Amino acid sequence: MTEATIALVTGANKGLGRETARRLAGLGWEVFLAARDAERGAGAVAELAEEGVHTRFIALDVTSDESVAAAADAVKSQFGRLDVLVNNAGIGGPRTDPADTRPDDLREVFETNVFGQVRVTHAFLPLLRASDHPRIVMVSSGIGSIAVITDPKVRDIVPVALGYPTTKAALNMLTTMYAAALPDIRINAVDPGYTATDINGRSGFQTITEGTDAIVRMATIAPDGPTGGFFDRNGTISW
Ligand code: NAP
Repeated sequence: MTEATIALVTGANKGLGRETARRLAGLGWEVFLAARDAERGAGAVAELAEEGVHTRFIALDVTSDESVAAAADAVKSQFGRLDVLVNNAGIGGPRTDPADTRPDDLREVFETNVFGQVRVTHAFLPLLRASDHPRIVMVSSGIGSIAVITDPKVRDIVPVALGYPTTKAALNMLTTMYAAALPDIRINAVDPGYTATDINGRSGFQTITEGTDAIVRMATIAPDGPTGGFFDRNGTISW
């Protein structure tokens, strides 16, 4: 029998993270459903268990060094390695007019969407290096793509704000740099597409499952699959 793939999804108590955890566990993988709130995380694990899907709750707040270190220790003691890390946790950030936005208004969204992904990636790298086929999926957004955001077809429908778009643009460059530095790990950014979740007040037009197609595809790529790319559910997209 081949060993199960070990995966961890951050921000997985709801939305795209929960659906990603559900789909990866459905492949027979051992999936850590990570959430910052124990009640919400354990609740999601229990709901999935009622559907016959087994996941493991793990406490992980991407903004806390202690929390992330404890989660990495827990995965190490249970499996000694991690095959797939899905850096999914994210927040929307302030929607204030750029002219009225101060640095302090942006700290929380950068702490979560950018420094959080660095904190988690850094902490789990030793466990990923212990895998025969390590993969990292950075859950970015088309809103972090300068090519997309300046496209006349899109420009006028995306809210103008300094926080969320710049954090996802930073995450895209983090992906590029990590991929250049770590050629033995497949590291890709994905745009889920506009999906009905709490982050957008459920205004997205895609289903939650459609929103996880690109995440699942990049989580399941082969050892000779792409690295350092940016994908949506239809294929490669522009930075
Ligand atoms: P969501 O339903 O609001 O889920 C966000 C998840 O992130 C929640 O589980 C939330 O936990 C978690 N989270 C927030 N701060 C955290 C922290 N400090 N530590 C750990 N977890 C934290 O939104 P979603 O749409 O599923 O978003 C998932 C990812 O997809 C995000 O990175 C988002 O930017 C990206 N994305 C979404 C769309 C879309 O249309 N939905 C499009 C492009 C990209 P709590 O429940 O505890 O708050």
